[in-house]
Amino acid sequence: MTERATAAQALRTADVVILGGGPAGLAAARLLNQRGLTPRVLERDASPHARSQGGSLDLAEQGGQLALREMGLDRKFEELARPLGQRLCLMDPDGTVRLDVDDSAGEYRPEIDRVQLRRLLIDALPPETITWGAEVSGVTPLKGGRHRVSLADGRRLDADLVIAADGIRSRARPLVTAEQPAYSGITFIHADVRDPGPGSFVARHTGEGALQALGDDKAILAQRAADRSVRVYFAVRTAEDPARVQGERFGDPASVRERLRETFAGWSPDLLGVLDEIDGDFAYWPLYGMPAHQRWHQHSGITLLGDAAHVMPPFSGEGVNMALLDAVELVHALFSPAHATIDEAITVFERGMLDRMAGAVLDTGAAGELLLNPAGTAPLLTHFTAAAER
Ligand SMILES: Cc1cc2nc3c(=O)[nH]c(=O)nc-3n(C[C@H](O)[C@H](O)[C@H](O)COP(=O)(O)OP(=O)(O)OC[C@H]3O[C@@H](n4cnc5c(N)ncnc54)[C@H](O)[C@@H]3O)c2cc1C
Repeated sequence: MTERATAAQALRTADVVILGGGPAGLAAARLLNQRGLTPRVLERDASPHARSQGGSLDLAEQGGQLALREMGLDRKFEELARPLGQRLCLMDPDGTVRLDVDDSAGEYRPEIDRVQLRRLLIDALPPETITWGAEVSGVTPLKGGRHRVSLADGRRLDADLVIAADGIRSRARPLVTAEQPAYSGITFIHADVRDPGPGSFVARHTGEGALQALGDDKAILAQRAADRSVRVYFAVRTAEDPARVQGERFGDPASVRERLRETFAGWSPDLLGVLDEIDGDFAYWPLYGMPAHQRWHQHSGITLLGDAAHVMPPFSGEGVNMALLDAVELVHALFSPAHATIDEAITVFERGMLDRMAGAVLDTGAAGELLLNPAGTAPLLTHFTAAAER
């Protein structure tokens, strides 16, 4: 009797190339590696330390934490995670505290710095898995569902399966869908207070967790990092600046400070004091999102994961959770005996992922409206009260 073909069998001899060494790509690499495959990760950064990864992420029980368990990295995560990061202080623009809660009685969503999560995932892979300084410039379909991946330095490699986890500006996305991320109308300008002094109003109210000062369709959001620094986001509704790209440093902190003082005129001097405490440069971070309901066209030997598939504004804190869950669900589908081919497994994975993401994209839009609205903290307080009564 002949054995029924499965996607897993086809994978045994397949060249698997993963674009991007962010959370989604690294998680996919680890999960495939655990199953005996040797995928190759192509990462644009020159090294793990090439740029500040910034910010902290909270991992949900059924999202990031589930993925880390699957990867056998949950104990290491627990050593690094900060449960106290669940504390939240909600403030009016005049500095009045409207809510100061430790949400650890609710869902367990401990914080981890992005740099720590990335390091945890990198360290779990054989070093030769990741090619650093490998900027993908294009992906071209070949016959039989294979693809040629071209790098900016002229190198090329062919793959039986391309897993594109190369983030918001994915080079592979056009092979899968005509959808593109659209600007959300909201821009973050962020910077760090590396060493907050004992008198820092913002650091005190951020505590070990987060501060959200909301009003006039704007917000000042602050988060504590593991190294005790505080990352501050100034969130405004504004037109996109066509002269800048996401992540660009302004290079002129004095004029950014002045512009932010004008934008947040009338807000508490205590809150705005944080502008003088910021000791690095400011970065430009316009927020983009893919539509909740996407149409993907027929494709073979390629799929998208994480932000490449469904970047969304970060208001519900689900981006990294969804990215890690994508990796788990893709690898489950690829190794399910129910799927006879790699393409069949990919189709099943994508159907489930796009369904799941439709809800997540709508949720983050609703969360954004609660944070940036003319009535400031009132709608969020009403939301919390309603949630507590449910
Ligand atoms: C300000 C902000 C705060 C956030 N806060 C949260 C939060 O609290 N909780 C949460 O769950 N999510 C949060 N997110 C979202 C979360 O960061 C992302 O959803 C998550 O990082 C997606 O992971 P990814 O691996 O898909 O993409 P990325 O993290 O973008 O990784 C993509 C990788 O691909 C590499 N790459 C890109 N282009 C190329 C190329 N051409 N060639 C080779 N490599 C390439 C990049 O260098 C990068 O390493 C936040 C996002 C932002 C912007």
